[in-house]
Amino acid sequence: MQKKNEHKTICSYCGVGCGIVVEQDSKGNISVEGDPDYPVNKGMLCSKGKNLNYVAQDTSDRILYPEMRWSRNHPLQRVSWDTALDRAAAVFKSIIEKHGPDSVGFYVSGQCLTEEYYLVNKLTKGFIGTNNIDTNSRLCMSSAVVGYKKMLGEDSVPISYDDIELSDCFLVAGANPAWCHPILFRRIENHKENNPNVKIIVVDPRKTQTCATADLHLQILPGTDVILFNAMARWLIEKKKIDKNFIKKHTVNFDAVKESAFQLSMKKAAELCGIPLEDIKKAAMYIGNANAFISMWTMGLNQSVIGVSKNVALMNLSLLTGQIGKPGAGPFSLTGQPNAMGGREVGGMASLLAAHRELGNPKHRKEVSDFWGGKEIKSEPGYTATEMFDALESGKMKAVWIICTNPIVSMPNVHKAEKALKNANFVVVQDISHNSETTKYADLLLPAAGWLEKEGTMTNSERRISYLPKVIDAPGEALPDAEILWRFAQKMGYHGFDYKNASEVYDEHCLLTKGTEIDISGLSYERLKNEGSFQWPVPHATHKGTPRLFTDYQFFTNDKKSHFNAPYTLYNKSELTNSEYPLILNTGRVRDQWHTRTKTGKVKRLLTHIPDPYLEMNKVDAYLRKIKDGDIAVVKSRRGTVRVKVKVNFDIREKVVFLPMHWGKVLNNDFGRANNLTNDLVDPVSKEPDFKYCAVEVTKY
Ligand code: SF4
Repeated sequence: MQKKNEHKTICSYCGVGCGIVVEQDSKGNISVEGDPDYPVNKGMLCSKGKNLNYVAQDTSDRILYPEMRWSRNHPLQRVSWDTALDRAAAVFKSIIEKHGPDSVGFYVSGQCLTEEYYLVNKLTKGFIGTNNIDTNSRLCMSSAVVGYKKMLGEDSVPISYDDIELSDCFLVAGANPAWCHPILFRRIENHKENNPNVKIIVVDPRKTQTCATADLHLQILPGTDVILFNAMARWLIEKKKIDKNFIKKHTVNFDAVKESAFQLSMKKAAELCGIPLEDIKKAAMYIGNANAFISMWTMGLNQSVIGVSKNVALMNLSLLTGQIGKPGAGPFSLTGQPNAMGGREVGGMASLLAAHRELGNPKHRKEVSDFWGGKEIKSEPGYTATEMFDALESGKMKAVWIICTNPIVSMPNVHKAEKALKNANFVVVQDISHNSETTKYADLLLPAAGWLEKEGTMTNSERRISYLPKVIDAPGEALPDAEILWRFAQKMGYHGFDYKNASEVYDEHCLLTKGTEIDISGLSYERLKNEGSFQWPVPHATHKGTPRLFTDYQFFTNDKKSHFNAPYTLYNKSELTNSEYPLILNTGRVRDQWHTRTKTGKVKRLLTHIPDPYLEMNKVDAYLRKIKDGDIAVVKSRRGTVRVKVKVNFDIREKVVFLPMHWGKVLNNDFGRANNLTNDLVDPVSKEPDFKYCAVEVTKY
């Protein structure tokens, strides 16, 4: 039973979405532990979650009151909330009047709560009259969104974490869940320990911690994933390990995928992927022989100039084997951020519309604009993340409002983002911490409430919606993001923003989902508080939620079938290596840090694992460059340089190097910031950037 000073909430970091019990003692000190009753983590927490109490209680870095400057030559000065939001409204109105609504935009975050995401969308698309609202989820999830829509009709993760214990084969591709989704991976490890026959296949150019549990590690050459998945598809078809009945009754386009899979021989595919042919066959055999097969993936597939092709090529394997809509089976995209899924539900991207409606569909646009009672919604997508920064740099966009994200560390080819913010007429940064490098570019800095300081909801990777209560007061004058947004909308003179609390925003969002495939009109705050978390859809007030989708094989497409998709290319379209830049840089996460370290960077315990940025390099490549373990090296790409300490091993493929993405400018301008190097090429459909393939050279410093 919950004690009086105990509060149940959700971890603010990754998309696993673990339940946490927060306890406050009589002096106000906070302690956290895993919620033993929460179905996701059953009491477990990883190192990041376990140390959230330090993040919540250390307010030394917090932005405490609104700060504003009248011109770039002036320092930021403390102002009242009214002055800050009056100025923001005056500047936005004047820019919109002069240059049109597409000259402004909002850049938000997969860490925003659903209510905040909902409001910023309503404000931008429904009232300002532009679709320029995008999110850092574009940098991590958008290729999976497009993949799901193409294959299943909507952006719909079909399975649950509870399917893990029902599966006997996992293909983990382009992901290191042992470090990046630790509690989810702990469940896989436990399952394997209890059932040694369960097969785990890992596809990664690096031998990561995830490989320690794997039966088979396919150490792939970066960029060749489509060729690998097609080769597996070919083997499954040739060996008659496909589910003909499922394909016939519940799919379309099988022939197109077959044709794509047969373009290359297995031998040629193995050669191009740099993987032994027998290993590809063995992996395909594990999948073909499985009773229940789950594929899991994250950024290694999504963050690519061919990210959508990689997604569909992988998902084709689930359709070929009929491994969807049944226990322990399905393609499972693991979300990086805690509420990337919630953001997508409210249409929180430049190319989406609320409740999985289509921006390109006039009926859908009218439904939403009638519901909001604002302007007609435009049919053309707004600027996506990288396009937004390009538009700021070129002057097409004049003002940007950045919420809960730190693009000065996280954007690809980050010098462009710096130029863009310098060039913008007006930059609003709404955040909790001065540790964010982006705050330095703010003309208006707004203090936001953080974790435990506001209420709202989030949806984790398995469609599970949970309620997060307000437990403590925000420091200084910080306000919940939702309140900042509705106060601003009121200053703009827009009607329909006279909310009194987050609950009213949530109710409005739920009503807008009614009758859609993600209907949560039966899920109130009261139910979430009293009955716990639910997986959507939850279409009526006694509905128990939906752990698994498509159990009736009725997919969300117009014809109700699942759609095979031939990848639009087999071959990687990233920038080319050459004699000047012969190595491929891959970027990613480390175990104890989160995003750009504004929170985890201030917890001493989390610095003991990996305290500084480093470059992982194969011993052969290091030897050829006379670099030893621990040396400082300069990494150079066509866009910039980074100085960093080198870790030498045989765990990473030759000709591939790895840099963590977390560090910004430390010590010196070029020390450790991976995105000095990365390129801003994007997938042509998902517009997700290509963080995983950038041509570099490394020399000893
Ligand atoms: Fe938080 Fe993710 Fe760790 Fe769970 S696995 S405690 S959600 S960071």
